Amino acid sequence: MACATWLQSSSLSYSYVLFPILSRRARLPTNLRHFHHFYSNRRLCSSKTLSRPPLMDVSLQAKRGFSFKEDEVAYPADLYFEAPLKIVEYPDPILRAKNKRIDTYDENLKKLVDEMFDVMYKTDGIGLSAPQVGINVQLMVFNPVGERGEGEEIVLINPRVNKYSRKMVLFNEGCLSFPRIYADVERPESLKIDARDITGARFTVNLSGLPARVFQHEFDHLQGILFCDRMTEEVLDSIRAELQALEKKYEDKTGSPSPEKIDTRKTRKAVAGFGKS
Ligand SMILES: [Zn+2]
Repeated sequence: MACATWLQSSSLSYSYVLFPILSRRARLPTNLRHFHHFYSNRRLCSSKTLSRPPLMDVSLQAKRGFSFKEDEVAYPADLYFEAPLKIVEYPDPILRAKNKRIDTYDENLKKLVDEMFDVMYKTDGIGLSAPQVGINVQLMVFNPVGERGEGEEIVLINPRVNKYSRKMVLFNEGCLSFPRIYADVERPESLKIDARDITGARFTVNLSGLPARVFQHEFDHLQGILFCDRMTEEVLDSIRAELQALEKKYEDKTGSPSPEKIDTRKTRKAVAGFGKS
């Protein structure tokens, strides 16, 4: 996920942050300073004093795509990479391919994570999923501050969503696989997730605010869902020409027809919650 703009400051009133986000004041691009300010303020608040919105159990609206139990396990060859990593751009079919579950926590995985953070920082991103660098496994990294040495580097492997809030919020999102394209996407404000860390230890955490937003964007990538899939037709119209330009760029580069075209996308209802629709 690239940078974005917070649109609903009123949502901050019940936000709570469980990740220790910032350790010191960051030098941030203008569009990220707002986030920094937000998290600086959040750290001053005790989570006990903030009312938390109710979270819905994912099982209430379970759809295929939540469970990873049936997912295929990655072989070492699936995790092979060459540095430096390159960002895969829309409409490359790698972004729609199935992502395998990781069950080997070795040095190669640590190196892949390091390289993913490296390319994320170099491209001014705040989150990155493995398929975006051509590795189809269930791995994401993010740092809401987007600066090396600032904030906290978060690694999530085989993540699952357990609960999410009914409260939906709009947010102006970007994506490293859609360079220089930004558009509004509505998503749940907070959620409860579990995942494995870089050592393979499973943990559970509640997310809200920017970490929840980045997580959901990257979690979608792990299901082969792109942020344009969640945009309304009206929002999509505002970036249609830019998406078509990326499709043409892909065709010029590969000599093959674009595997998907925004103009032939079926009209669909706005997606709520998670899962494929
Ligand atoms: Zn993205």
